[in-house]
Amino acid sequence: MMPNLRVLKLKVVFLLLLTGSCLTGADVQADLTSWLAPIVWEGTFDPKLIDSIYKQQNITVATTVFALGKYTVFLQDFLESAEQNFFVGFRVHYYVFSDHPEQVPDVKLGGERKLTVMTVNSSSRWQEMSLGRMKRLEMLIESGLVNDADYLFSLDVDTKFYGRWGAETLGDLIGVIHAWYYNSPCVLFPYERRPESQAFIPYSEGDYYYGGAVLGGSVKCVYQLAKTCREQLDIDAAKSIEAAWQEESHLNKYFLYNKPSKLLSPEYSWDDQKMKPQEIKIIRFSQVLKNYAEVRPNI
Ligand code: UDP
Ligand code: MN
Repeated sequence: MMPNLRVLKLKVVFLLLLTGSCLTGADVQADLTSWLAPIVWEGTFDPKLIDSIYKQQNITVATTVFALGKYTVFLQDFLESAEQNFFVGFRVHYYVFSDHPEQVPDVKLGGERKLTVMTVNSSSRWQEMSLGRMKRLEMLIESGLVNDADYLFSLDVDTKFYGRWGAETLGDLIGVIHAWYYNSPCVLFPYERRPESQAFIPYSEGDYYYGGAVLGGSVKCVYQLAKTCREQLDIDAAKSIEAAWQEESHLNKYFLYNKPSKLLSPEYSWDDQKMKPQEIKIIRFSQVLKNYAEVRPNI
């Protein structure tokens, strides 16, 4: 049967009106968002200068990393490569959350860098281990333990640093552009699309698709983020709804209404599975390959 062209045309016009700028991909080379937040790409900053500015302020950077269940296998490479690349020369405090504290490797740390192991209970589902991060981040900040820190990052552990990550990444609220979606139109972003979920984002809205492997900012802003996402996750859980990409979906919702003050380009959250295209000059931090069946307790 011939499609009714008039109806089809009307539908396309309606979709265009509805989605507006969401149909066009973001400018991959842009180094400012439409709300004038910098997007950190290689070549947009002077690494020595920016480090020296923050060194004068004598800052401490805290980093949480979760290694539950079998994910402790990733800690060695994560920590060793962080020592080579992550805020080298700064005061860094790692907080490693694990249900197997005895499996946290003894990695030699540089001067002024320390590591605290936080023992937590195990979960039987990987979704819970990942989802529990917001709650634990919130509790860590409430405990006052990170009061000595100026900035706080939360990073995935199944990762490795391949290049410099320094003071250019500091700011009030930091999100990273997801490596798989930095050049997609936002109607194609895998946001949560069911209105029943607190993470719901309609097709007409969206700026970027942010990766859940990296978040950061001032301790105060990270606290607001973690608390809000945890509350939203709890509301969903009470309704037995799990957002499409768990806490990444809630993070994307949060960033839509609380715009990050600085965005990290996908250089800061690449994926070893993905070929490096020409427009990406350097890969600084990347998800390593993992055998899901081997490291996750459930599918
Ligand atoms: N995680 C963990 N144990 C698990 C599953 C997840 O410790 O069994 C933590 C870990 O820090 C991991 C993060 O949750 O980096 C996110 O999960 P995952 O890396 O599996 O998600 P993906 O990056 O594949 O979406
Ligand atoms: Mn990961």
